[in-house]
Amino acid sequence: KSGFIAVIGRPNVGKSTLVNTLIGQKIAIMSDKPQTTRNRIMCVLTEPDAQIVFLDTPGIHKPKHKLGEYMVKAAEGTLKEVDAILFVVDATQKLGPGEMYILERLQATKRPVILVVNKIDLIEREKALPIIAHYTSKYSFAGVVPISAREKMNLDGLLDEVKSYL
Ligand code: GDP
Ligand code: MG
Repeated sequence: KSGFIAVIGRPNVGKSTLVNTLIGQKIAIMSDKPQTTRNRIMCVLTEPDAQIVFLDTPGIHKPKHKLGEYMVKAAEGTLKEVDAILFVVDATQKLGPGEMYILERLQATKRPVILVVNKIDLIEREKALPIIAHYTSKYSFAGVVPISAREKMNLDGLLDEVKSYL
């Protein structure tokens, strides 16, 4: 099994931490300048049963000018070709307008979108379900996986979910 997975989410939700933790070394910390390229390979994860390429997609945001519009289109074109999209959110934050914009565009790609609720180490157990419902009441997702990238919680669950789309 092998495939391409896009990792999307606003700054500071923990995308780099997630990919770093999955790969077990600090190679995902490349240029963090937004919009420099359409897509960047964050890392390639090689497991006995799967090879997964994680892609960063910095072009997905609400365009403020013509060039921005072009870049958003380019990023969306690439998204159509991935096997699944990880939409990473911070469990301690509410859905913002930027995220709603992105989620609407993601639906158009027709690719499976997995909601990854990160930083669950920062919330109480009984808060997890209402937080997830906050997202799933507004948008539909192919899967929902709560994790803590930093505390390495449920990363195997996330990988199993990802592999089911390869
Ligand atoms: P990115 O901008 O989406 O790539 O986010 P980063 O991976 O750079 O993480 C932003 C901040 O959130 C850093 O200070 C991380 O240490 C922190 N962080 C990431 N994942 C977790 C998590 O699961 N739990 C907690 N408590 N902090 C996290
Ligand atoms: Mg990052």
